[in-house]
Amino acid sequence: MQIDLPTLWYLTIGTLLLSAAMTLWERQAHPRRARELGLWAGACLVFALGCVVAMSRQHFPGVTGAALTNLLMVSGYLLVLQGAAWLDGRPRLLRPALALAGLALVWAIAGTHFPAAFWNHVAALPIALASGLTAWTLLRSRTVRGLRSRPVAVAVSAGHGLFYLLRALVAPVLVAAYGEALLPVFAKVTMFEAVLYSVAMPMAFLALVREEAQGRLLAASRTDHLTGLPNRHGFFEDAGRILVAQAADRPVSLLAFDLDHFKAINDRHGHAAGDAVLRLFAEVARDMAGPDAVLVRLGGEEFAALLPGAGGGSARQVGERIAQRFAAAAARRDGLDIPATVSIGLAESRSGPGDLPLLLSAADRALYRAKALGRNRIEVAEPARAAA
Ligand code: GH3
Ligand code: MG
Ligand code: MG
Repeated sequence: MQIDLPTLWYLTIGTLLLSAAMTLWERQAHPRRARELGLWAGACLVFALGCVVAMSRQHFPGVTGAALTNLLMVSGYLLVLQGAAWLDGRPRLLRPALALAGLALVWAIAGTHFPAAFWNHVAALPIALASGLTAWTLLRSRTVRGLRSRPVAVAVSAGHGLFYLLRALVAPVLVAAYGEALLPVFAKVTMFEAVLYSVAMPMAFLALVREEAQGRLLAASRTDHLTGLPNRHGFFEDAGRILVAQAADRPVSLLAFDLDHFKAINDRHGHAAGDAVLRLFAEVARDMAGPDAVLVRLGGEEFAALLPGAGGGSARQVGERIAQRFAAAAARRDGLDIPATVSIGLAESRSGPGDLPLLLSAADRALYRAKALGRNRIEVAEPARAAA
C-alpha cells in the first residue's frame, strides 16, 4: 500500500478537526471538566493549524514556517499538558509561556544556522518532553488514580513522547549512516503515528472524564445527600463486602438508631433545624463509632452502624457514647438549644459474620422496645434471634 505524505497530512488535519469537534460536543455534557476538555479541543485545533502551516512552510520567509510549525505543535502539547495538570487543579501557566518563549529564541538563534537539522531532528525534543510530562502528570494525578482508562491515557502520552525522543536521537544517526534518502521515510512514519495519536489522545482523555463522571454518579447514588453518610444502597454494598471478608469467628454488632420525637423538633423549630439535627447526629456518629464502623442513614431520622469485630459489650459502649455526645451537642448547637435524644437497638452476632437483614431486623425489634420503655435508651436484642 502506498500513501503519499500530503495524504497523511490531510488525514491528520481531518482527524484532528473531528477530534476537536467531538471533544467540544462532550464538553457540554461535563461542565465540571469544561476547562480541561476545552484545552484538549483547543490543542487539537492548534495541531491542525500547525499541520496547515507545515504543509505551506515553503511560502514563509527563511525558517519562519518551520519555526512557526514547531511553536504551534509545542503549544498544542502544552495545552494537552495543562489539561492533564488541571484535572488536579494545578494550573501551570507561567512555565508553558516561558518554555514557548525559550523555544522561539532557540529557533531565532540556532535554528537559522542549522535549519535542516532543527526541522528534522531537534524540533522533536520539546514534543517528547511535553508528552513525557503529560504522562508523568497523569501518573501522579490523585483525581484519575484508580480509573480504568488512566493506564491508556498514560500509555498514549508516554508512547508518543518516546516516539519523538527516538526520532530526535536515532534519526540523525541513521541519516548519517544511510543518507538523506531516509528523511521522507521518517516523515511518513511520523505522520502515520500522528494520525493514530490524533485519535487515541482525545479518546483516552474523553474516557478519563466520562469514567470520572460515572464514578461521581455512582458515589452519589450510594450517598445520603443531607448527611454525607452512605444510604441504604451504599450500606448494603459496603457492609456486605466487609461481612464476607471478615473471619468467621469474629463477632459483629449492629446498632440501630432512631431520633426521639423528631417530628416534634421539626414542628417546633422548623424543618431546617431538623435537618441540622440530622447532620449533627451523623457528625457525632462518624466521630464516635470508630474507623471500622459502617454507618448508614436508613431513611428519615433512622440510622444504623455496623461494627465489625465488636462484641455486644463494646458495641453497647459505642452506642452509649454516641447517645450522650449527641444529646450534649444538640443542646449546644448554634444556640438552638434543641433537646434531642436517640433510642438505640443493639444486635450482636457471635457465630460468624451473620446475615445483615436478619441483624437489622433484630436490632429494629430491640429499638422498638427502647421506644416502648421510654426512649433515650439502648436495648439489646435476644442473642438467639440476632445470630445468623
Ligand atoms: P419517635 O420518638 O417515636 O421516633 O417519634 P418521631 O417523631 O421521631 O417519629 P415519626 O416517625 O413520627 O417522625 C419522623 C419525622 O421525621 C417525620 C418526618 O417529617 C421527619 N423527617 C424525615 N426525613 C426528614 C428530613 O430529611 N429532614 C427533616 N427535617 N425531617 C425529616
Ligand atoms: Mg422513625
Ligand atoms: Mg423517631
